[in-house]
Amino acid sequence: MRTPPPLDDRDAELDAARSVAVVRLSALDAAVGQLRADRRSDTADDEHDPEGVTLSAEWARLEGLRSGAARDLDEIDAVIARRRDGVDGICADCGRSIPIERLRARPTATRCVDCAARAGA
Ligand SMILES: [Zn+2]
Repeated sequence: MRTPPPLDDRDAELDAARSVAVVRLSALDAAVGQLRADRRSDTADDEHDPEGVTLSAEWARLEGLRSGAARDLDEIDAVIARRRDGVDGICADCGRSIPIERLRARPTATRCVDCAARAGA
């Protein structure tokens, strides 16, 4: 079967997920920018400044969150593109329909459970 499963509200779901991802990413961008500004205005060197360690840890944390948010947005955009191409809900590897339960649980899934397990994703 090469027909995508019926997903009436999928466009709305993807739009909503995309909006959330965009807001999250821009908030994290702002936080990273703020931290960068804080760090620049901080003339004391990190090594002798107890705040330096905290800033570095915060930096790593924010960068991690930021790259996660960017990845989420990429995944959502990829699904939207697949939808446009008419292949959303079809496993990218084996070509079978991805069960609707899986798409509900994992809206950005592009593989069926078997193929995802095989790909280690
Ligand atoms: Zn598959």
